[in-house]
Amino acid sequence: MNVIGVLALQGAVREHIRSIEACGAAAVEIKRVEQLSEIDGLIIPGGESTTMQRLMDSYGFSDAIREFGRQGKPVFGTCAGMILMANAVEGQDSRHLGLMDITVARNAFGRQVASFEATLDITYAGDGFHAVFIRAPYITEAGHEVEGLADYQKRMVAAKQGHYLCTAFHPELTDDHRFIAYFIEMVEQSKNSLAS
Ligand code: GLN
Repeated sequence: MNVIGVLALQGAVREHIRSIEACGAAAVEIKRVEQLSEIDGLIIPGGESTTMQRLMDSYGFSDAIREFGRQGKPVFGTCAGMILMANAVEGQDSRHLGLMDITVARNAFGRQVASFEATLDITYAGDGFHAVFIRAPYITEAGHEVEGLADYQKRMVAAKQGHYLCTAFHPELTDDHRFIAYFIEMVEQSKNSLAS
């Protein structure tokens, strides 16, 4: 069975666990770096990216997650998780994990529309996906290895680069588990190719 970890330092952890289990995979809350060796794929949830970054640095997760990714294991960042995976963040000098060749803008849809819902057509996950955005970022630049999977108002809000995946919205907050199921499929594929 595929074992998916959810980084459990802060943010929307329980909802991801529920969604992973609904897809028939095993879900583990990751609180210690050593647990990364027990999982096949990792989700970095939404929350508050600066708080999460601080906690990740102080618990030694930042280097450990980069190493996890270097081994070819899939990582999926949702909302704040997407900000942490980006190569650059608008208006900030430092980046965090730098796993994906994307630049993101934080809280990018403006204060008036802090939270909203939209129906998106998403490559691989399917059409008519009900997406929940909460103080969401979006992707302002993407390198040529990055595949955009969904747009909202002409802004890229979901992307894939090899075994890395990110969304500006929260795919775990509804009963439509198609996007999480797609990540689990990526994990299955990488397990097969790492084993061969
Ligand atoms: N706005 C938050 C940040 O910048 C992200 C919000 C979220 O994850 N829902 O960290």
